[in-house]
Formats: sequence, structure tokens, C-alpha cells
Amino acid sequence: MRVNITHRIKSMKYATLSNFIKGGYRNCDGHFIDVFSPLNGDVISKVPLSSADVVNEAVAGAKQAFPVWAEQPIKERAQVFYRYRNLLEKHFEELAALISEENGKTIDESRAEISVSIEMAEFATSLPQLCVGEINEVSRGVACRSERHPLGVVASITPFNFPNMVPNWTVPNAITSGNTMILKPSEQVPLSGNRIAELLSDAGLPEGVFNVVHGGREAVESICDHPGIDAVSFVGSTKVAKIVYRRATGNFKRVLCLGGAKNHLIVLPDANEEMTASNVAASMTGCAGQRCMAASAMVAVGNVDSIIDRLCEETKKIIPGENLGAVISKQAKERIEGYITEAEAEGASILVDGRSARVRDKENGFYVGPTVIDHVTPEMKIAKEEVFGPVLAILRASTLDEALRIENSSVYGNAASVFTQSGGLANYVAERASAGMIGVNIGVPVPREPFSFGGWNESKFGSGDITGKSSIEFWTKLKKTTSKWNPEARTNWMS
Ligand code: NAD
Repeated sequence: MRVNITHRIKSMKYATLSNFIKGGYRNCDGHFIDVFSPLNGDVISKVPLSSADVVNEAVAGAKQAFPVWAEQPIKERAQVFYRYRNLLEKHFEELAALISEENGKTIDESRAEISVSIEMAEFATSLPQLCVGEINEVSRGVACRSERHPLGVVASITPFNFPNMVPNWTVPNAITSGNTMILKPSEQVPLSGNRIAELLSDAGLPEGVFNVVHGGREAVESICDHPGIDAVSFVGSTKVAKIVYRRATGNFKRVLCLGGAKNHLIVLPDANEEMTASNVAASMTGCAGQRCMAASAMVAVGNVDSIIDRLCEETKKIIPGENLGAVISKQAKERIEGYITEAEAEGASILVDGRSARVRDKENGFYVGPTVIDHVTPEMKIAKEEVFGPVLAILRASTLDEALRIENSSVYGNAASVFTQSGGLANYVAERASAGMIGVNIGVPVPREPFSFGGWNESKFGSGDITGKSSIEFWTKLKKTTSKWNPEARTNWMS
């Protein structure tokens, strides 16, 4: 990484980070915080907590770059993302290793993350075909035509759990659409954001079009308040999504905020035992349960005890430090273990307990083992709140309608899945579940491009989705032009 080496501290693997503004790194003054590797608890870098002044500087640079970038034909803008896509592929292993280091996920999970980032870049290269207007004769001799225009300077605020992929949900589409952009990565995983800036610059993106401002609350609030920013996308917890949505819409920006989740998997007695057990285990433990699409609550309808037994066997094959990564921080580990202890005290039964996970030679890493908790009731905290760790709460329902009532009562609505061999029952659930992304015999039902990613209820604030075709609406505005050229048409309308 081309980081500013003047700040390098010997014991840290990476130098102290700088913001990336107007095509280069800027030395930062002020307050810095440590960046930890969850794998072993080491401090690997330091990240600046940028002030409003830094946001001002980045907005000024992005504003200056906007007219020239917006004037480029979209086909030219897309060329950058062909090259960027190839650079993601070229640096695949290095980018994946960086994700694992700063986020704690396994190297296979990090590789999968980069594969999705590549898909995102590929989708952006299709925008010249998709981001098109329409023309129609609306009266004799009168044509109405619409075309899409970029918004201006836009911002993307991202969470810790996908340091490379979530920025790539927004960056390629927003920039190919002609906007200039400021990324504010999670201060817990800031390194991948700088690598994205470097690769975009290597791909030929002009200076000022993409900027990275590191920081926390002050930087986010400055983004929400800055009059020079036209749109804000946010991905993170529901608590902060509400803060950002309220503040940025209050300043008349276009805003889309994706929040947290509590995803229910409804398991019916006719479900395929092996497929259900392995899918549920993978969904609850993948990325150490730190996915907004992770299985968090399983609703067991009737007697599915043999599936639960099999699921427990599957989870016991998932070993911290081997095929299970670390959670993001010491505080996250304590929070997750606290949920388990509280559920136990409230009378739930712990079938698989991940609380005392230790990894040899990584004693200071932040690990929680897979945990399966049965006989959770709907009023328990663990049934309602997002745990964001490798923990599955099993709730028992005697009928499918009761299971759906449990699913429908969640304040969230990101994903819901059903496991059954009956097409009719699968459709029954798909029609009635209160979630934006539905799975049938799939534990992590992420829609792939060109379908779009986005939940319902308190999992998303704002209209439209963040990826796919839906994102085109978000990152552009429509201009409608009505013309009449031939007076001989003698139309008496549209004078
Ligand atoms: P978070 O809300 O704590 O942080 C997200 C961003 O907001 C970060 O950039 C952070 O610096 C900033 N931030 C934090 N506190 C703030 C405050 N008080 N004011 C202003 N800005 C603030 O989220 P996280 O812990 O980084 O990520 C995990 C959460 O993200 C989970 O709830 C998960 O479900 C959610 N998530 C949702 C999706 C989705 O698509 N719905 C995808 C990924 C993650």
C-alpha cells in the first residue's frame, strides 16, 4: 500500500493512515486511534479521526473534479472500471489478505468478498447499456425524451463487516454514473478503503473523483451537514442509520441508509435434513455471524429435532481460527457472550456453547465459537435484537402461521428463508414474510446483479436499493425534454 511512511511506527505492520484527497495522501493532524487485527489483537495501524475541515477539503476537491468527470461520455467513464476490475483480479490475494487482517474473517471468506467486488465492478461496466433514457412521441410532432444525469458530489459511509465489498456496492455505480465521491470507511477497518483509492487511481480515475476521509462520528455528521454533498448512502447499524437518515434528509440530501437485521429461517418438518443443517450452520457462522444476511433466529415448525441434532453436529465442525474467523473487537466478543449468558439465565438451553473459544498462538484474538441456543421464546432479548456473532437462537412454533407471526413481529426485515421440499409452502412463506430478500432452501439469500440488495422495515430507510438496477435511480436524476420541430404537424397541444 502506498501509505505515508513518515508516520510509520516500527511495531505496526502498516503505517499510520492518511486521508486520500484530490488524488493523493494528505498528512493528517489531530486525533488518531489504533486499528487492531481481530486475528491476534495486535495494533496494525493508526487511523485519523477527521474533522469537519477535512470533509470541507475533500468536498472542495470533489466539487472541482465534478464538471469535467460528468462531461465525459458514460462509455469513457466505464473504461476506468474495466481496468479497476482487472486490478482487483490482479491483486486478488493481497486484497483478500488485507481484509482478513483488519476484519478477522477467514482467507476464503475474504476471497469471496473480493469476488463480489469484482462482480460489482463488472456491473458498473454495463451501465452504458442500462443507464439510458427514453424517447416517445407524446403528441403528433411532439417528442418527450428523458435522460439520466449525475447528482454531483456524493458520499458513502460504510461498516466494518465487509471492508472491500460494501464500498464496492456504491463506488463503481456512483462514479460510472458521473458523480464524484467521498468514502468514509469504518474506522475499525480503514485499510481496504485506501487500497480502493490506490487501485482506482492506477485504473486512471482523474484526481478528485474519488476521495477517502477517515473518521468516526464527527466526519459522518460533517458529511450529513455539508451543503456541497448532494447524496449520502449509509450501511451500518439501524441506530446509526436512523441518525444519518434524519440528519442528512434534514439537510435536503438524497439519502439511502441500510441498517441492521434479525434474519429468520423457518424450518419445516419435510425439509431436506442434510441441506438444511449445512445451510443453516454456514449462514449463522459465515464471517463469524457478522453478516447482515446471517441466520440469527431459526423458527422450528413442529418436530424438526433430527434437523437440529444434525445442525449441532455441523456447527461442531466449525472451529475458531480454522474455518471460523474472529469477531471484530474485544467489545464485540463481550457483547456476543453477554447475549448467550443472558439467554441461558432466562431459561433457554445452550446446545452448542462457543463462549470459551481459544485459538492456540492467538490467545489475544477476538474469537467466539459457534453457539446454538434452543427453546428461545419471542420475548427474550436474544430473539429480538441483532447479536452479530456466530449465534443461532431456535424458537419453537407449532404451526407455520405461528412461525410467520414470529418472523413478522421483528422490527427488522432484511432477509427471511424457508426450508421445505414443498413448493406450495415455500410460496406461502415467500408471500407472507416481512423481509426484502427471501430464500427458499438458501441460508444467505443475497440477490446477485442485476437484482438489487436491500431490506424492508428498520433494515432500510429511503427508497430503492443500494446495488443493481435500483442503484441507478439513486445515483442519478432524470431530465425530461419535450420538443416540437415541425410546425406542419399542426398540433394544437404543447404550445
Ligand atoms: P455502525 O453503525 O456502528 O457504523 C457504520 C458507520 O457509521 C461507520 O462508518 C462508523 O464510523 C459510523 N458511525 C458509528 N457510530 C456513529 C455515530 N454515532 N454517528 C455517526 N456515525 C457513526 O455499524 P458497524 O458496527 O460498523 O457494522 C455492523 C452493522 O452494519 C450491523 O448492524 C449490520 O447488520 C449492519 N450492516 C447492514 C448491511 C445491510 O445491507 N443492511 C450490510 C452490512 C452491515
